[in-house]
Amino acid sequence: MSPRLRWGLIGASDIAATRVLPKIRERGDTVNAIQSGTLERGRSFANTAGIEHVVTDVGDLVERDDIDAVYISSANHHHHRQAIAAAEAGKHVLCEKPIALSIADAERMLRVADDNDVVLAVNHHLPGADTHTEIRRLVRAGAIGRLLAVRLAHAVMLPERLRGWRVNAPEGGGVVMDITCHDASVLDPLLAEHPHAAAGLAVRQGSWAQEAAQTDVLVPDAVMATLSYKSGVLVQLHDAFTISYGETRLEVFGEEGTITGLGVMTQDPSGSVWLQSEAGTREIDIPDRADLYMVGLDSFAAAIDGTGEPSVTGEAGVRALSVALAVHTSLASGETVTLSERSASHTVRGT
Ligand code: NDP
Repeated sequence: MSPRLRWGLIGASDIAATRVLPKIRERGDTVNAIQSGTLERGRSFANTAGIEHVVTDVGDLVERDDIDAVYISSANHHHHRQAIAAAEAGKHVLCEKPIALSIADAERMLRVADDNDVVLAVNHHLPGADTHTEIRRLVRAGAIGRLLAVRLAHAVMLPERLRGWRVNAPEGGGVVMDITCHDASVLDPLLAEHPHAAAGLAVRQGSWAQEAAQTDVLVPDAVMATLSYKSGVLVQLHDAFTISYGETRLEVFGEEGTITGLGVMTQDPSGSVWLQSEAGTREIDIPDRADLYMVGLDSFAAAIDGTGEPSVTGEAGVRALSVALAVHTSLASGETVTLSERSASHTVRGT
């Protein structure tokens, strides 16, 4: 049993309210304070959630003595600065994805966490899903032989309540930082390899209007990208905010079979996994269906306790970011982007 924690929330966000705060409480942890850039929104969040203290300044939150750890779920461009403030104050950091918006910023976060001897983890939920753990186990066990390709469909309809900065902010908004980044968190542990090159094409296809004042650069809401690996594996991604009908899917093709995860690119512990080979097609039994966010919280607390590793470490968060940034750069340049070497070693539960 990992230790109970006393939390401070940074960001009065949807994900905190809908997914993470309920699981923090279910663990028996306490939430003692929340920071929001807007006092009124912070108060409203705190009233609904029953949180006693509200601050607007991150410094006032991270200096509190009644907090062991912070959960950062602000808009993406704030993560870096807030995580560094928390780590410098000696607080452990569970940061939402993307870890930051540049590799230099993300690596600085890792260094500051290290220097201050605090745990920094990234809240990519998918690698901790039991379906994904089982797919990785099958791949490692050689169930489909030498790996050839992955096709990943992570195209969904963005709920109306989330169509703010996500569809408009040139810095930190868009489908690549939101969804491609999650795909990348799945691929490195699955393939035990970091991609060598990335190329993508993106469009703006949603019926939502871009806020006129923002910029004349359209923030993409649908992307198709290809990654290639030195081992010869090819990966194809379709990520979108615009698809109402269709199931998410993760297909892994090997010389001796194919593993298909249906409905597994999701926030819920759902979906099915199928193995197709010479012996036919069969569904893989997945008896455990732990909540994905609980997996992240438990592993974070175990890392603080010294009894485990975060489901997604800061390093793994940087690797995921590097793939998203490579796709992003390819969209801007129209060229294939070569990624620098990064170890794909991983620490996901059960693998
Ligand atoms: P929200 O848009 O709900 O919240 C982000 C910030 O926007 C808040 O911290 C708040 O700032 C501000 N904000 C919230 N509501 C409003 C509003 N009505 N008007 C103006 N500003 C507002 O973000 P999400 O919950 O969708 O995402 C937060 C983070 O979590 C992102 O980094 C995202 O990538 C990540 N995320 C991760 C998921 C996962 O499964 N791991 C899933 C969804 C999101 P302030 O606090 O200063 O008031």
